[in-house]
Amino acid sequence: MKPWCEGKEIVVIERGEREFLIDTEGRRYIDGVSSLWCNVHGHCVPELDEAVRTQLSQIAHSTLLGLANVPSVLLGKRLVELARRCGLGLDRVFYSDNGSTAVEVACKMAYQYWQNKGSPRPKFLTLNDAYHGDTLGAVSVGGIPLFHQTFRGMTFPVDYLSAPPHTADQATLQAHIDTLDHRLKMMKDIYAAIIIEPLIQGAGGMRMHAPGFLREVRRLSEKHDILLIADEVMTGFGRTGKMFACEHELVTPDLMCLSKGLTAGYMPLGVTLTTKKVFDAFYADPREGKTFFHGHTFTGHPLACTVALASLDLFKRNDLLAHVAALGPILDVALEKSRQVPGVSDARQIGLIGAIDVCDPKTQQAFPPHWRVGGELCTRMRALGLMMRPLADTLVIMPPLAISVESMRLLCDGVLRSLEWIPEIVAARQGAL
Ligand SMILES: *Cc1c(COP(=O)(O)O)cnc(C)c1O
Repeated sequence: MKPWCEGKEIVVIERGEREFLIDTEGRRYIDGVSSLWCNVHGHCVPELDEAVRTQLSQIAHSTLLGLANVPSVLLGKRLVELARRCGLGLDRVFYSDNGSTAVEVACKMAYQYWQNKGSPRPKFLTLNDAYHGDTLGAVSVGGIPLFHQTFRGMTFPVDYLSAPPHTADQATLQAHIDTLDHRLKMMKDIYAAIIIEPLIQGAGGMRMHAPGFLREVRRLSEKHDILLIADEVMTGFGRTGKMFACEHELVTPDLMCLSKGLTAGYMPLGVTLTTKKVFDAFYADPREGKTFFHGHTFTGHPLACTVALASLDLFKRNDLLAHVAALGPILDVALEKSRQVPGVSDARQIGLIGAIDVCDPKTQQAFPPHWRVGGELCTRMRALGLMMRPLADTLVIMPPLAISVESMRLLCDGVLRSLEWIPEIVAARQGAL
C-alpha cells in the first residue's frame, strides 16, 4: 500500500470503449494488458452488453447446487463442442467462479480421482515459476518464491520441475525430458497429477517453454499413468493465436482450467473441463462415498455464462483468430526493434502476448527488484496514453484481442519509446543511493 498511497497519482477508471479505458479525469488510455489479461473483444461491446441485459430481464442468479440454469446448460454444451472442434477430448464441465477456483477444482478432482480408484496418491508435480492463482491450493502448486514462500507452512506438498526455456536447443530439451521420464517412473504411485501452464508461464514472467516440451510432458504423464492438469486460465480463448494453447502441440490434458477470457473479461467465471475417464471415477451411488464435494455460491453464474456464450458468437462472427494472426507481425517487428536496445535482455512473443525483459544497459544485469524499473516505465507510459502493468522488470504487451491495427501500432511504438527512458531512470536510482 505504501507506494500506492505515497504515489503521485491514483488513476480511477470510469468508462471503457473498445480497447480504451477512460478515467475520471476524462483521459483515454489503450488497455495494454487487457485489464489483467482477460479482455477479449474490448470494452462496452454492444453485443455482449445486450446479452447481459437480456439475461438480466430473465434472472440474474439462481444456484447451480442441485439445480441447473439455462445459460449454464447452453454454455456447457457449447464448451464441449468447442473442445471437440479444437481436437481436445474434454467432454465434462465443472463450473466455479474464477481462475483460482478452477485450479482448486482440478487439484481436488485429481486427488480424489485416485482415492476413488482405491489407490490414493499424496503429491503434485508443478513447475518452478508456476502461477495458478492465490487461493491456498493454487498457492500450493505455485512456484514463485516472492508470492508463495510466505505461505509454505499452510500449503500441501509438491515437487518442482524446471521447464526448458524457449531458447533451449534440442539437447537441452532432451535432457529435461529424460530427467522427467526418470522422475515419473520413480514417483508414479506418488504423483496424483502434473500441473502446467501450457507453452507459456504467465505471472512467473511470461516465460515461454521450448517447443515440444508440452507434448513430451503429456506423453510421459500418459506413459506413467499420472493425470495432467493444463491451466489455460491465461492462455485460453485465443490469446496464443489458437483457441487453446494445448492445440499448438495437439495435447489433450485430463483436466483443463479456464477463466479470464472465458467471459471475454466481462465477469468472473471458472470452468474445469475433464474427461469421461475422470467423471466415471466419481459416478457412483452416494453410499460409496465418491461424491465430489465442491460448490461455490456463484458457481456457473447465469450472467457470466450468458456473456461467455455471446463472446463465443463474436469469436466466430468477427473471425477473431484471423485478426490476432494479422496483428502478430506488428508485435513481432516491435520486439525485434526492442532487441537492438542495450537495456533489453530478451523479448519474446506468442499470439497476442509480447514480453520484453529490461536490464541495465551498461552491464546487461538485472536491476535490483526494489528499483521497480518496469513499474516506473509503465507509470510513465500513461502520459503516452497507455495503461500497462509489468511483471517485475518484464514489460507485458497484451491488449484485447480485438484491438485495432492503429491502436496496436500506437501501443508498440509507446513501449519502444519507453525503453529510451531506462538510462535516465537508472541514473536517478543510482543518484538516490
Ligand atoms: C490469472 C491466473 C489464475 C488465477 O485466476 P484468478 O481469476 O485471478 O483467480 C490462474 N492461473 C493462471 C495461469 C492465471 O494467469
